[in-house]
Amino acid sequence: MGATNSEKKITRRRPPRFELVAGAVCLDFINTLDDRFSSKPKELLKTYIDLARFGEDTGILSELQVDRLFARSEMSPEAARKALGAAIELREAMFAVFAAIATRKPVPPPALMRLNQYIQGAAQYARLVPARSTSEQFATKKSGTEKARFEWRFDALPSTFEDPLWPVARSAAELLASDQLAYVHMCASKSCEWFFLDTSKNHRRRWCDMTKCGNRAKFQRFYSRKKKSSA
Ligand SMILES: [Zn+2]
Repeated sequence: MGATNSEKKITRRRPPRFELVAGAVCLDFINTLDDRFSSKPKELLKTYIDLARFGEDTGILSELQVDRLFARSEMSPEAARKALGAAIELREAMFAVFAAIATRKPVPPPALMRLNQYIQGAAQYARLVPARSTSEQFATKKSGTEKARFEWRFDALPSTFEDPLWPVARSAAELLASDQLAYVHMCASKSCEWFFLDTSKNHRRRWCDMTKCGNRAKFQRFYSRKKKSSA
């Protein structure tokens, strides 16, 4: 894996490559096992670097945090590999929880227990800060009509391999405890079944991504109709 420095810089400036269509970081994380129900699922988290990049693409980690993880994973590849294994275990526990909810089945307790371990871990690093509009209000001492809002931030992470997992676990905790949970669906495409949060106005979204699975289904319907009419 002897990549030169110049190569590293090029890969660092690549465009985002995770398709973040789920509407919630925790669901995007579950979707990192692509084509989950096909005969050949595609693992998008092949190395620890992929996990760090997920942190970068989703914006849950800063560039500096990701740089540190990149460097650390090169220094301790074995520890990074183990951390990736733990991350995948967490992902599969989250999958079990959300899949049970989406299909109206009982949530498996071991999966919820695993997720809870990370949610508890996340609590030690989460900091509540005024959301941007609120902090601007404070700065200008304006008494706006909008009520103050706050958000969770993970800007003081300890720079360990688990860094990306805390915001992911926090995202799952927030979604699971919110009214939005009713709008967590799995893509209607049989091979895809990515998760997404349906924030559309009438809550009738069926596809993870219209341009991907939605169009594919549309073409399939079109061709099967054409076949029938020409038969
Ligand atoms: Zn899909």
